[in-house]
Amino acid sequence: MYRRFRAQAQPWDMIVVGGGATGVGVAIDAATRGYTVLLLEQHDFGKGTSSRSTKLVHGGVRYLEQGNVSLVMEALKERGLLAQNAPHLVHNLGFVVPNYEWWEAPFYGIGLKLYNLLAGKYGFGASRILSQAETLELIPNLQTEGLRGGVIYFDGQFDDSRLLINLVATAFEQGATLLNYVQVTGLCKDADGFVNGVSARDVETGGEFSIPGKVVVNATGPFADALRREADPAVEPMIAPSQGIHLVFDSSFLAGKSAVMVPHTSDGRVLFAIPWHGHTLVGTTDTPVPQPTLEPAAMENEIEFILQTAALYLSRKPSRSDVLSVFAGIRPLVRASDSGNTASLSRDHTIRIENSGMITICGGKWTTYRHMAEDCVNQAATLARLPEKECVTHHLNIHGYHASSDRFGPLSGYGSDAPAIEALTQQDASLAARLHPSLPYTAGEVVWAARHEMARGVEDVLARRTRALFLNASAATEMAPRVADLLAAELGRDAAWKSAQMESFFETARNYTVRSV
Ligand SMILES: Cc1cc2nc3c(=O)[nH]c(=O)nc-3n(C[C@H](O)[C@H](O)[C@H](O)COP(=O)(O)OP(=O)(O)OC[C@H]3O[C@@H](n4cnc5c(N)ncnc54)[C@H](O)[C@@H]3O)c2cc1C
Repeated sequence: MYRRFRAQAQPWDMIVVGGGATGVGVAIDAATRGYTVLLLEQHDFGKGTSSRSTKLVHGGVRYLEQGNVSLVMEALKERGLLAQNAPHLVHNLGFVVPNYEWWEAPFYGIGLKLYNLLAGKYGFGASRILSQAETLELIPNLQTEGLRGGVIYFDGQFDDSRLLINLVATAFEQGATLLNYVQVTGLCKDADGFVNGVSARDVETGGEFSIPGKVVVNATGPFADALRREADPAVEPMIAPSQGIHLVFDSSFLAGKSAVMVPHTSDGRVLFAIPWHGHTLVGTTDTPVPQPTLEPAAMENEIEFILQTAALYLSRKPSRSDVLSVFAGIRPLVRASDSGNTASLSRDHTIRIENSGMITICGGKWTTYRHMAEDCVNQAATLARLPEKECVTHHLNIHGYHASSDRFGPLSGYGSDAPAIEALTQQDASLAARLHPSLPYTAGEVVWAARHEMARGVEDVLARRTRALFLNASAATEMAPRVADLLAAELGRDAAWKSAQMESFFETARNYTVRSV
């Protein structure tokens, strides 16, 4: 990546700021149209919201209830395309809506039938009403008191940061240049005040760059206003950051292979309990926060809310000491539109062309990242007067594409990369051992992440190349010293680097543990 960066003599056609789902999606779209594109991420790819989602590729049953049919149809189509393009990471999952009131079966039964109908040829399977016995067969741990039955529908589930890393590889294969740990520190402007590049700092070396580009895309998610203020200090904020948290428990809290969906919690939100990587993921909340931060912390009232709501539906009541990990993410929600210059292309995501010529894209969701990128590149190409090219990402296989990757067992999420990781561990048996008895990850995966997935430190491996930190924070902490050793050997680092890495990881991991009271 660095060699490519250094070799670019002309201004880039596009510079994308932010390495989450939105920015990496834009990089893929631009590169596949033949434009030169540079993406800069201040931390690791996916450090922001894109590793902290509920891991659903979905149309959004909630939007349907709000009557937003076109939005649901668009997302259901994207769900179908993503399942086709990345079958190694997107799976069909049954969601059971438990019914405790007489009206719930007909009400949700009809609504979820419509949800599946709207997916058309991209349907994931017909929904149906379940008897009490069928409901309990699918979710044996449901609270049985007052249970009448349920409704099952089907949606997609994925691993968000693994998909992101595969998207980075896809962008690279299509010719894009993507650097993690390079922060955009300012914007360059021409004599007329139009943005014509960025200034940036290499976080690892302290090196400073001034990088020319024909158009700059601000894809910094919840941080979008900070870069907008660089362009115009007087600009009105467009982001209303809102935090959502998840708690992770062991798999015994949700036996069976299906998820539970509670359509209306006491705060009016949807709550999911989902089997994920051999654990149970429960979330989420919606708490407005004044400022976005890179490492948001779950609030006590959010933790209590999820524990109490889960206890209403699960026969085994989870307690604080059962929480293996807690993680928080910030939704980049867009405030109600306030000015006329919004090139808003859907009620879900917003694309704004600033007076300075910078393009900001935010809102939307993981599921619709491809469509967001298509809209954004259409606008950016016009603004930069680039030759007009059609979007070609609808049926673009994502790196790792494999039609039957289940055969790779614990490495299935790597798809077509799995045999190469297996080969690594066959060459060196010491890499085959698990790093922790509670989690499936091996030393071979750490080496792979350093060599092929741009992992630069312990947290990159434990949080986003593997999901150890999100699944079990104390196991991840115990894995850190060995991961630091393996990375130091791969990246040529010394003992001081190792201890700094561990110190920093221990500090981060504390944010993923729940204090006992
Ligand atoms: C709790 C929760 C649950 C969700 N669940 C789902 C779900 O199940 N399904 C779904 O489809 N969607 C879901 N979403 C929405 C989805 O996760 C987000 O819409 C999506 O991840 C946003 O991606 P992004 O790239 O816009 O932002 P981010 O992922 O936050 O990326 C922005 C990046 O910009 C970088 N950056 C900021 N400033 C700079 C700078 N100056 N220089 C360089 N880089 C910079 C940041 O470090 C960050 O990595 C959920 C969101 C939340 C919060």
